[in-house]
Amino acid sequence: MPSMEHASVEALALGLQRGDFSSVELTRHLLAHQARHAGLGAFLAVNEAAALAQAQAADVRRATGQAGPLTGVPLAHKDIFVTAYPEGGLPTTAGSKMLAGYQSPFDATVVARLGAGLPGEAPGAGMVTLGKLNCDEFAMGSANENSAFGAVKNPWDLQRVPGGSSGGSAAAVAAGLVPAATGTDTGGSIRQPASFCGITGIKPTYGVCSRYGMVAFASSLDQAGPMARSAADCALLLSAMSGFDPRDATSAERPPQDFHAQMLQPRAGATAAQPLLGLRIGLPKEFFPAALAADVHGAVRNALAQLEKLGAALVDVSLPRTELSIPVYYIIAPAEASSNLGRFDGVKFGHRAAQHGDLLDMYKKTRSEGFGPEVKRRIMIGTYVLSHGYYDAYYLQAQKLRRMIADDFQACFQQCDLIAGPVAPTVAWKLGEQGGDPLQAYLADIFTLPGSLAGLPGMSVPAGTGAHAMPVGLQLIGNYFQEGQLLHAAHALQQATDWHLARPAGF
Ligand code: GLN
Repeated sequence: MPSMEHASVEALALGLQRGDFSSVELTRHLLAHQARHAGLGAFLAVNEAAALAQAQAADVRRATGQAGPLTGVPLAHKDIFVTAYPEGGLPTTAGSKMLAGYQSPFDATVVARLGAGLPGEAPGAGMVTLGKLNCDEFAMGSANENSAFGAVKNPWDLQRVPGGSSGGSAAAVAAGLVPAATGTDTGGSIRQPASFCGITGIKPTYGVCSRYGMVAFASSLDQAGPMARSAADCALLLSAMSGFDPRDATSAERPPQDFHAQMLQPRAGATAAQPLLGLRIGLPKEFFPAALAADVHGAVRNALAQLEKLGAALVDVSLPRTELSIPVYYIIAPAEASSNLGRFDGVKFGHRAAQHGDLLDMYKKTRSEGFGPEVKRRIMIGTYVLSHGYYDAYYLQAQKLRRMIADDFQACFQQCDLIAGPVAPTVAWKLGEQGGDPLQAYLADIFTLPGSLAGLPGMSVPAGTGAHAMPVGLQLIGNYFQEGQLLHAAHALQQATDWHLARPAGF
């Protein structure tokens, strides 16, 4: 078995089951590893005492025959999920000064299901929460540089960004601080940091994971998902964290899913050597533009060749409105954000300006002080596109195009089962390199936004390295509720290759 800090969720679960170590021992070990690498900036909060108490409870559950497959395995949550305080003992900030020190009275559904469980439901998975992970402020960003609490470093090159907005999650898993983490993806925030840090991440179909207790950015797009080393680990976590939740009106009403079993389900007619026989993988020509960096293109082609070897057939398809997904997303997401962030007014919770005049002045000062520049930019854009006189020209047009983008995917799925391409046009860039030009980051979201706008499930799967020996991710997009098929293809690739096992030096 590899060292505890780089073992998979599966291996750690097996070790706990066999009694090779206890959850308390494992938790202590990872807490120490985390403390040694605090300089990465991946964690915003750690609560050792609470983690050890959860680990102890997990060991008791195991001793009394009540453990599930994940009981006692540590993880950490993107700090966009609320965590009950004082029970879990962890504050929630969403990467914003606006929520500095905020203590939630309840756990997000995803957190509860992975942990102790929801009141009135069967016990949760019993995983141990080590802490909360850094992210872009209110999940707005692609590099984690918009966090009010400092940047996160990419473990593969400490001069580079880990991607965003779930940058802390990706960096923590890549550095072995945790075997898995939660993330959220509105326009790519699970897939892109997973790609930049060489780990595996899946954004499920919109509605698969409850948004209850996820600090809202753009509610029609926000979706939670797991980030881990392998597709198999992601499948285990996704099974535990997903499922219908009456507290989220957009939660998909369907029975609990065993994504791990779906992942292992052999394809009809497939063979051991060619597990993907009969699988048609569509390559949209718009995902391979001339401007795509040669190193990323090369790594993605390499991974596609592997999938072909495993029996998949590659077919040419088209997503003609790919480029339009950038303006469409950057109208719809800010519009929803401007509405969602209206609640941060200094009255009910969060930051309140210390010095202020009347109520209006209090609102103004509170919001001026509490929000960072990118969040303010989006509130202004969102308010503008929703305002009388511009609504039809921008917001309504964007909504119409969003529908057409979703329809384009359905046309593709007539010809293929999965869609593949790069996650991002380049490898991770240098910290500070974008010099505060938001447009550059927006443009780099081109390959993740279409699937988000359509509400489709998408994955990032490690596909080797590109320039500067930085990781490159292969993106796989499935049709609605086809997470099992996505995970199956990614798992087959990971059984045949070892890109997902590569580790950054020094961790
Ligand atoms: N990079 C995109 C943005 O800045 C996506 C973020 C996300 O998925 N949360 O909005």
